[in-house]
Amino acid sequence: SIPVITIDGPTASGKGTVAHRVAHQLHFHYLDSGALYRLTALSALRHEVPLNDEHGLAKVAERLPCRFAGDQIWLGNENVTSAIRAEEVGNTASKIAALPTVRHALAGLQLGFRIAPGLVADGRDMGTVIFPHAVLKVFLTASVEARAERRYKQLIDKGFPATMEDLLKDLRERDARDSNRAIAPLKPAEGAHILDTSHMTADEAVEQVLKWYAA
Ligand code: C5P
Repeated sequence: SIPVITIDGPTASGKGTVAHRVAHQLHFHYLDSGALYRLTALSALRHEVPLNDEHGLAKVAERLPCRFAGDQIWLGNENVTSAIRAEEVGNTASKIAALPTVRHALAGLQLGFRIAPGLVADGRDMGTVIFPHAVLKVFLTASVEARAERRYKQLIDKGFPATMEDLLKDLRERDARDSNRAIAPLKPAEGAHILDTSHMTADEAVEQVLKWYAA
């Protein structure tokens, strides 16, 4: 059967970078499940679908005209690779991710990424809900301060305005929302290895994950 490695963790924990590099090393496919929630959020914002219109949001998720081409992400014929990284889109994504209909609509799409020779999937519920039988499950975390600093650098590099104070507040709010929601709350999956990367480089984290996979 096709092996799956899941890497779940809070926002800005570095799981995207780590998952991407692990996939590259193993020649596996890579699923950035957060991007699907961000795409749904961006599409909803664009079409002015109200955030309390659960049915309308589920429809947006079901009909998402998205395409992953290498590192580039498309929504219809628009390249939205950087647009989906904006803080407003991330915040909206975390709100609509609490809706069961939206999660259900995106589940099938995510399962479709399991293609030979293997998949590395990153998100919040990859190991707990979507791929519970993954051969390796990792819960990647870091202190809120370390994560705020990383996110700050990312945003500034991409030319988005940011302050540490706002980022700390946003991260804490998003952590609370992701961890306390009724459906698919963020928590380590059964049998998950915990990896705290507060004092680790991305390459060190990648090495650890590859070691666990080889073991
Ligand atoms: O990981 P990223 O920050 O891109 O995810 C954006 C939002 O999507 C998260 O704050 C989270 O609420 C939601 N999400 C989720 N389940 C996933 C991936 C992301 O609920 N598997």
